[in-house]
Amino acid sequence: MNLPLFKAKGPSAKDLYIQGLHLLLEGRFTEALSHFIESATLDSDNAAAYYHVGNIFRQRGSLNRAETIHTELLKRHNLPWDLKLKIKFSLIRLALSRKERPRAEELIREAAGESGRAPWVKEELLAVHELAGQWQAALDLKIELDRIKGINDPKRLALYYLENGISLLKENGRAARIQFKEAIKQDPRMPWPYILIADSYFTENRTDDALEFWSKLFDAAPSKAFLIFDKMEKYYYTAGDYGEVGRIYRKMVEAEPENISALLALSRYLFKKGSRDEALYYCQKALQVKPDSREAYFELLRQTMDAAGSLSEIRENVEGLMRICSARKRYTCHACQTRTEEPHWRCRHCGAWDPYGLS
Ligand SMILES: [Zn+2]
Repeated sequence: MNLPLFKAKGPSAKDLYIQGLHLLLEGRFTEALSHFIESATLDSDNAAAYYHVGNIFRQRGSLNRAETIHTELLKRHNLPWDLKLKIKFSLIRLALSRKERPRAEELIREAAGESGRAPWVKEELLAVHELAGQWQAALDLKIELDRIKGINDPKRLALYYLENGISLLKENGRAARIQFKEAIKQDPRMPWPYILIADSYFTENRTDDALEFWSKLFDAAPSKAFLIFDKMEKYYYTAGDYGEVGRIYRKMVEAEPENISALLALSRYLFKKGSRDEALYYCQKALQVKPDSREAYFELLRQTMDAAGSLSEIRENVEGLMRICSARKRYTCHACQTRTEEPHWRCRHCGAWDPYGLS
């Protein structure tokens, strides 16, 4: 009788683990998860497989299961230091998604104590500082990291200064403005710090200082100046100097004849003042610069409809067209495609930086 020499064997714990890693890289999380679970079942010493199981659970929102697996894993004595640290980073993210602030901060301090061990630790630490909104720590670490790597990343630094300033704004306007001014030094073309500095001066009734920063914005980033058009009109209207709005728009159009936002703002301003022919002229100019501009098209419809008031048929058609055109400018996040009417430097949905290309 012939006995088989070898039993038919399935894949080993190690094979399953490596396949799991490949699946993870391909984004096939469900299959990766079952591979890691099988691998850990065959070889309970395979701590890395447990780590990935916990991580995938956390990313899927099964926070309790993730926490149990990772805290149990941390109790093992023979864990390599890097795996131990990776588990801690996962627990930090977990605490942050549960909004358990003190727990997250404690774990971040522990991780920071080991940041000298390898470059990836600093990178991961920076990521959790961002998630936790620890902007001063993020700034310090980012500067250190860039120095080590011999690179310059002024745009990201500027955003950190911006966020750092925001976190100080309620308590101390002056300290916040210092951060905003640092942001300007890093990235003079980013509109937000000028706007925030002006807002903060207005709050303190320092009108001249506020206006100075509006004018700095016009000089430094004229194509982004439209971000304050509403505020500016309101301010000058309240101050009883609405004519200044017109002068500002005219100056902008002179300096940048292809600035659509300025052309349309001037057109709207003139229309309001009753200078209809001139208003129409600037509106048509805007459409020449950018024939597919919804905003310009909408303004043209609004103004022509007003002129053709007595022709009811035209009015009906034009009103129909107006209904399909959104009057408000809308912004779409380049990362998550979420749409909003509120421009910002960071997507409030997914956290992507400069989601609308305004910085
Ligand atoms: Zn987004």
